[in-house]
Amino acid sequence: MNNFPILPFCRTNLENFTFKLIKEIPKNSQILHITVNGYKVKISFEKINNNLICFGKYKNYLCTIEETEEITNEFHHLMGTKLSEDIRTICGIGISFLNWHKKTKFCSNCGNILDFSKNENIAKFCNNCKSMYFPTLTPAIIIAVTKNKSLLVTRKAEWKGKRYGLVAGFIEYGENIEESAIREVFEETGIKIKNIKYIASQFWPFPYQLMIGLTADYQDGDIVVDKLELEEAKWIKFRDLTDDLLPPPSSIAYFLMKHTIK
Ligand SMILES: [Zn+2]
Repeated sequence: MNNFPILPFCRTNLENFTFKLIKEIPKNSQILHITVNGYKVKISFEKINNNLICFGKYKNYLCTIEETEEITNEFHHLMGTKLSEDIRTICGIGISFLNWHKKTKFCSNCGNILDFSKNENIAKFCNNCKSMYFPTLTPAIIIAVTKNKSLLVTRKAEWKGKRYGLVAGFIEYGENIEESAIREVFEETGIKIKNIKYIASQFWPFPYQLMIGLTADYQDGDIVVDKLELEEAKWIKFRDLTDDLLPPPSSIAYFLMKHTIK
């Protein structure tokens, strides 16, 4: 085994879980049912026999999910949750599955209504033109850039409270991970970087990213903020980066920042 860290929402430590579509739920099945509204979820263990969509099996439970517009105090916020890591991970997988399912109803080649594939665990198939659609997973880099004992942090205008994040962005066609990191840091902040290193990765289910966590050293340049993406970008001294300025502990941004300033 390797020594890479296992972050929240990752399936590595989730034993007895199978990601598989179960089209018809057998009568009297035990159900782990997720009701979801954005980042909030409610978990219930029931025996139900209706047309819920089932995306996997966990121990003896079939995992089902549905969306709601209601929120009661039974809902847990996935970022500050009291749920176990196992259940939180299953919720994340379910949320991604549900997002993909909702957005993949028609064949984008011919417009036909899609069915679930009979041959793959989870995929959709066009019976007209034979196109296959697998669950979407979008790779993105996130990077902690350091200069002496300072970290390059960013802030988006829509973030609540005074907290910082890191440069992050989607990998584009033709790019490898390193090229993507160099481009994103330069586009968002005007900084050139060197010594890029892989640290950890995380599945992030909002809606379905694979976050690739990196570190790098400052090479040259002065900060020029990309105001289309960011409200602020700046160097902050490690000792000034107190916990109240960090992103949610379940995120790889938090992990990378803690890893860098430790
Ligand atoms: Zn088609």
